[in-house]
Amino acid sequence: MTRAVALADIRTARERIANKIERTPTVLSQSLSDRAGHPVHLKLEHHQTTGAFKLRGASNAIAALGPQERSRGVVAASTGNHGRALAHAAKLEGMRAVICMSRLVPENKLDAIRRLGAEIRIVGNSQDDAQQEVDRLVAEEGLLMLPPFDHPDIIAGQGTLGLEIMEQVPDAASVLVPLSGGGLAAGVAAAVKGVSPGTKVLGISMARGAAMKASLDAGRPVQVEEVPTLADSLGGGIGLDNRLTFAMCRGLLDDVILLSEDEIAAGIRHAYEQEREIVEGAGAVGIGALLSGKMKAKGPTVLILSGRNIDMSLHRRIVCGDPAQEESAA
Ligand SMILES: *Cc1c(COP(=O)(O)O)cnc(C)c1O
Repeated sequence: MTRAVALADIRTARERIANKIERTPTVLSQSLSDRAGHPVHLKLEHHQTTGAFKLRGASNAIAALGPQERSRGVVAASTGNHGRALAHAAKLEGMRAVICMSRLVPENKLDAIRRLGAEIRIVGNSQDDAQQEVDRLVAEEGLLMLPPFDHPDIIAGQGTLGLEIMEQVPDAASVLVPLSGGGLAAGVAAAVKGVSPGTKVLGISMARGAAMKASLDAGRPVQVEEVPTLADSLGGGIGLDNRLTFAMCRGLLDDVILLSEDEIAAGIRHAYEQEREIVEGAGAVGIGALLSGKMKAKGPTVLILSGRNIDMSLHRRIVCGDPAQEESAA
């Protein structure tokens, strides 16, 4: 099953998850429209249940499982938004979910996932150790691993965001999508271009450790060094054995824009001060791209605010505008 995800798959996903997720609003940003000289719309997906769009993919992947697979339960090593989404979606279906993490994961992240009813396994001192525990649970206890992006049902679920955008802003000339492993960008681009082939879809990553951008440039999946960034949800690789998102992003994205840490911070600050929205770094990159001038609007533009799960003391430091402290916090 390595064929690209198509519009029909995304429409199926939408019906499957309709009563499991929120249809989030899209609002006009007056301040960004004034700057850009074109209407700029914000898709407020950071108000999604669990605080990020990842619930769409997780809900769709779980809804697609047969009764036999459901009884096995799901497992993942993500302590970020995918882990939260999976824990929430599994709980809703009365399924077992196990999230594996290393000893280094901070207590507040651990609590958030525990509150969602997932079992937690703490093993070793690195993400690799946590992944080994996942592999063991798959092999020995028959749990099912649901990956964060490179899976057809995950991509189709994230794509439902693109369908909503084109209904809310049918004349969109460009859609800006935060880009990491590419599940969101692949799904949204397939939906947007399926409905409106002329609409441009651009991926936005941080300049520090953008694995998809490096892979697109190399013509194949490559590894990049992982470095701390304010857009922590955009960190991590795309997998050297990537099956779907690399090919889809290569085929569907019109461009990829990279932002400095200061440009991401400016996005977070603008979201708070002008739009009165609290977003995490990954959710602010669309705003950062417009403010930096790296993205020039040529018509109605939609920015996806993808998540809001930021440490609030870090957020406070950023909106107070102390760049030195941001640097050390990141
Ligand atoms: C996961 C995530 C992304 C990136 O999604 P990919 O499918 O990995 O490209 C962007 N923003 C937020 C808030 C996320 O949690």
